[in-house]
Amino acid sequence: MATHIYDSAASKADSRIPAAAMKLLVVEDEAHIAAFLEAGLTAHGYDVEWASTGAEGLKLTMAPDVALVILDLKLPDLDGMAVLTGMRERGVMVPVIILSARGEVGDRVRALDLGADDYLPKPFAFTELLARVRARLRPGHGAGMALRAGGIYLDVLTREVTVAGRTVSLSEREFALLRAFISHPRQVLSRQELLAMAWDMDFDPQTNLVDVYVGYLRRKLGETVIETVRGTGYRLRVDGPSTPPAAL
Ligand code: CA
Repeated sequence: MATHIYDSAASKADSRIPAAAMKLLVVEDEAHIAAFLEAGLTAHGYDVEWASTGAEGLKLTMAPDVALVILDLKLPDLDGMAVLTGMRERGVMVPVIILSARGEVGDRVRALDLGADDYLPKPFAFTELLARVRARLRPGHGAGMALRAGGIYLDVLTREVTVAGRTVSLSEREFALLRAFISHPRQVLSRQELLAMAWDMDFDPQTNLVDVYVGYLRRKLGETVIETVRGTGYRLRVDGPSTPPAAL
């Protein structure tokens, strides 16, 4: 069950809060913790949505207006790690803060390796969570700046591309084309769609520009990274969970 609470009056109390409320998704099965987070975050001007199961949480992370996810690890159905992996595999790259009673170093490392942006062991101070949420939502920090799929990592700001830990230099057009693919992992994209996304224009559909640039990307990233789907277009291959580089 998802609840939706927004208190517009609360946002006036804190000048650091942006004018439009940002939506945070809380995935937590314990109702009293969820209620505590919802009340606190709403009072600080955020728009909070709550999912009490992993499956529902994963579904709700796909909503385009979710700005950040606060994710519990121990859930009744899907483990929080599975939710995180599922999100990243589906190309959902919003920041994720893990909340968990499992504070061991191994869990923390695993969560960060799977693409979490931060980790806060329970019990935690609400002010610390709030500070971490603010940090992750600060412009230029995390939100929408880095894209990951499979072993490919793409930094939108620096235009740096890393494939399986190896840094690759791409031209502006190659970067735009890879960004189009990585924003739609596993999805078959037609030449026309790729032209519209990477060239920002409607070209003659007979042009072989896309095929030429897919060839360039394959040469730089590896031949199997982009798959040809006969008669339809191309698809980015994503085999396993995302593997971000250590320094993000
Ligand atoms: Ca739990």
